[in-house]
Amino acid sequence: MAHTYDPENIFAKILRGELPNKTVLETAHTLAFHDIYPQAPVHVLVIPKGPYVSYDHFAAAATDAEVLDYTRTIAKVCEMLEVGEKGFRLISNAGELGVQEVPHLHVHILSGRPLGRMLNPPA
Ligand code: 5GP
Repeated sequence: MAHTYDPENIFAKILRGELPNKTVLETAHTLAFHDIYPQAPVHVLVIPKGPYVSYDHFAAAATDAEVLDYTRTIAKVCEMLEVGEKGFRLISNAGELGVQEVPHLHVHILSGRPLGRMLNPPA
């Protein structure tokens, strides 16, 4: 599948400093920040700085250094947020069926309340 990156997406603007964000952690290749419309008491987004649309795009095309940095930063953010003991959910939506709103790879880290079942029942 072709992954065409739109450099005008909201997270690209955040990375260029054109929009503000509440940063949790920034590394060489990764930025973690609070979601603007939190769905749970803890709702943090973790994005790579590179131009990747979705998780499969990133996992296939990113450099080893980017993949390592992204993965380890997710671990550090989970530690900082202290979600490990009580539990949390990682979500990465992709494309139309995944109902992805912002076409720049992000994982959601959600915690702080019972999160219910993974998927809504079929409509
Ligand atoms: P998606 O549906 O693409 O998986 O999730 C996109 C997420 O980005 C949503 O949870 C939404 O609240 C969040 N979001 C959209 N615009 C902004 C913004 O300008 N700043 C921040 N921090 N989060 C945003």
